[in-house]
Amino acid sequence: MSDLIETSGACGKCGHEFGFEYWASINIKLDPKLKDKLLDGELNVITCPNCQNRSALAADLLYHDMERRLWLQLTFSENIDEYIENGNRALADLEIMSGDIGKQMSFGYKRRVVSSYPDLIEKIMVFDEEMDDQVLELTKLFLKAKLHSEGDQIDEALYFNRIMMHPEDPKLKIILFNDSLWAPYNEFYESLEKTLESFDLNSDSSLRVVDERFAGKMLNELRMRRRDT
Ligand SMILES: [Zn+2]
Repeated sequence: MSDLIETSGACGKCGHEFGFEYWASINIKLDPKLKDKLLDGELNVITCPNCQNRSALAADLLYHDMERRLWLQLTFSENIDEYIENGNRALADLEIMSGDIGKQMSFGYKRRVVSSYPDLIEKIMVFDEEMDDQVLELTKLFLKAKLHSEGDQIDEALYFNRIMMHPEDPKLKIILFNDSLWAPYNEFYESLEKTLESFDLNSDSSLRVVDERFAGKMLNELRMRRRDT
């Protein structure tokens, strides 16, 4: 079920007070058009009736894809750790209350927390391509390290854009502002995927953040493992 909220607020530009509606959660199996709106950057964009100023509302949003068992929570909360803790507690309570059915309902779910619209849209695109976002984050870290070694220090976020499916040389298109960067997809991606498999991360259906920091932590774990063997 999608959840439309009625509220009111003041325009950031002219200060005019007005009532408006926004989506707090969208179920894209039931409301596929809301997914298109989100990808077009039109969801939860509010227009002031006085000055016509348009602005994206910084309101939390749940994106739920029942078919892909995908649960993406966008939050503007300043304390992400606490937010995740509360979210996971609520999910655990729900599971206890609904017993075996709850366990089945939760099985195989990928739950992520993101803190911006571009991050949310990237996750949707990655999972729609049936890729693993954890492997993608490691790939982006690799790309940054490679650029760094070539003298290009990159501090900005990189975003997955699409897969180029050339049979001999498939690549991932990754965007930095208006620049296209290409990362290897085939064996490189598969070897990262295999390496991550040993951590058994995908059986974890709790809410978590998979971003550059996650990739950095994974890289450290891999280094430590290598040192131990
Ligand atoms: Zn206004």
